Amino acid sequence: MSFDVAIIGGGLAGLSAAARLSAGGARVLVAEARPALGGRASSFTDPVTGEAVDNGQHLLLGCYRETFEFLARVGASGNVRLQGALEVPMIDEAGHATTLRCPPLPSPYHLMAGILEWDAIGLRDRLSALRLAAPVRQARRFLLGGKGWLPASPDETVESWLTRWGQARRLREMLWEPLALAALNQPAHEAAAPPFVRVLAQMLGPDPADSAIAMPVRPLTAMYAEPARAFVESCGGQVRTSSPARVRVANGRVAAIEIRGEPAAAPLVILAVPWFALADAVAGDTAALAPVLAAARSAAASPIVTVNLWFDREVLPGPFVGLPGRTFQWVFDKRQVLGDSAAHLSFVSSGAASVVTASNEMLAETAFDELAAALPAVRSARLLRSLVVRERRATFSLAPGQPARPDARTGVAGLLLAGDWTETGLPATIEGAVMSGHRAAELIQQAADHGRTPGLGVADSGSSDPLPAEARPGRQAWSADR
Ligand SMILES: Cc1cc2nc3c(=O)[nH]c(=O)nc-3n(C[C@H](O)[C@H](O)[C@H](O)COP(=O)(O)OP(=O)(O)OC[C@H]3O[C@@H](n4cnc5c(N)ncnc54)[C@H](O)[C@@H]3O)c2cc1C
Repeated sequence: MSFDVAIIGGGLAGLSAAARLSAGGARVLVAEARPALGGRASSFTDPVTGEAVDNGQHLLLGCYRETFEFLARVGASGNVRLQGALEVPMIDEAGHATTLRCPPLPSPYHLMAGILEWDAIGLRDRLSALRLAAPVRQARRFLLGGKGWLPASPDETVESWLTRWGQARRLREMLWEPLALAALNQPAHEAAAPPFVRVLAQMLGPDPADSAIAMPVRPLTAMYAEPARAFVESCGGQVRTSSPARVRVANGRVAAIEIRGEPAAAPLVILAVPWFALADAVAGDTAALAPVLAAARSAAASPIVTVNLWFDREVLPGPFVGLPGRTFQWVFDKRQVLGDSAAHLSFVSSGAASVVTASNEMLAETAFDELAAALPAVRSARLLRSLVVRERRATFSLAPGQPARPDARTGVAGLLLAGDWTETGLPATIEGAVMSGHRAAELIQQAADHGRTPGLGVADSGSSDPLPAEARPGRQAWSADR
């Protein structure tokens, strides 16, 4: 059986590319190495409780436009719940509980007003937030209209950027640094400023809901991965799990695709694997990919550790609370988020390099002690079970000096890249992964419209090396979008 496009990797990038291409009428084959779809945003069944447990809590923001488009396409919009406006309960290291709540005002005044009302920090410190208005406005102008420049240097860290723009220490510790850690998965003193400024600019878009938090109300695999599979299959495509795949390159073009060692037929390939799996997914004469392979090989990773605890009673007053300054910066009550099918709390430690090698017992104890310090009533609850999930390569590092991120186009005809680590400008996020999948799909659709072969980063503007007409998807089939 032959396909128009083969997609290697069934995470958010691969599935969003597959859904977009399928919606346009292409016959798509998705090959995923693992037994289940979803990659770094997936769930599994806990063998003891039988509950679906996420590989780590995932949050979306209201500004994740391409993600919402993808969810709508695969009929999964109802699987996330978006706050009306940003509302974040927090308990600081002294045990003081406050909520950052944004009033219904136009953006960015809603956030500024929310900060000015927020009694977690002194008024003078809160006022320093106003100094960010100018750089954020400039960043938005740059991102939307390409005017001016992004007001952040790739050589400066988030911490130095915040200091440069006059953010008071307490405001940094309580708001900006926890936000940066959550969004970038790297401490503010390590991560480069530009992706953070980009996130800020997107959150402070025209709609105040852009900065609101959206939470999956189903375990991740059921939330988007299985709906995406059903959608692709309903369009005549195939999604194969437990199917490690590889592209063979010869004479500067895709020569063959092997899935579990067997050949598969498709003239175009989207490689939607993470940076650390790239080298194993290509074979043959890969000279044209040498710079990308070198960048992928030298990219550093940042871990996330999640501790899941089961108690004999409800212990959180709401679905989640931020614990700034602690090892586990956020805790989520999955019962309040997912309903009665879940009974555990998930504690998230982002930028977890310093704890990723600690023992499970130590991590569970730390999570328990930190929550009990914030909410002393927790001490009277009985802990029934703990389950630790370590994602050692959760995200790529955003530290200054990391290798450049590759474009979707490669130097190999018929081969495109997707994945959160490709050049999206965003940190490793759901939105970045979906953007990259959409971008690869769009390049294929454009090339199909113009009768060209996508993937030629160098020679893309020329019409050399076109696909044989019979291998090219029909133009009409590509124009419709569901
Ligand atoms: C614990 C955790 C928490 C996170 N929290 C958030 C959050 O709150 N908000 C947010 O926006 N982002 C979050 N992220 C980041 C987000 O999950 C990732 O950016 C996103 O899932 C990356 O998707 P991807 O498709 O680019 O890559 P992946 O999810 O890594 O998908 C790539 C797929 O390719 C497969 N593969 C690899 N090699 C082969 C091969 N040879 N053949 C076939 N298949 C192959 C892999 O098995 C994998 O399934 C979090 C990540 C983690 C780990």
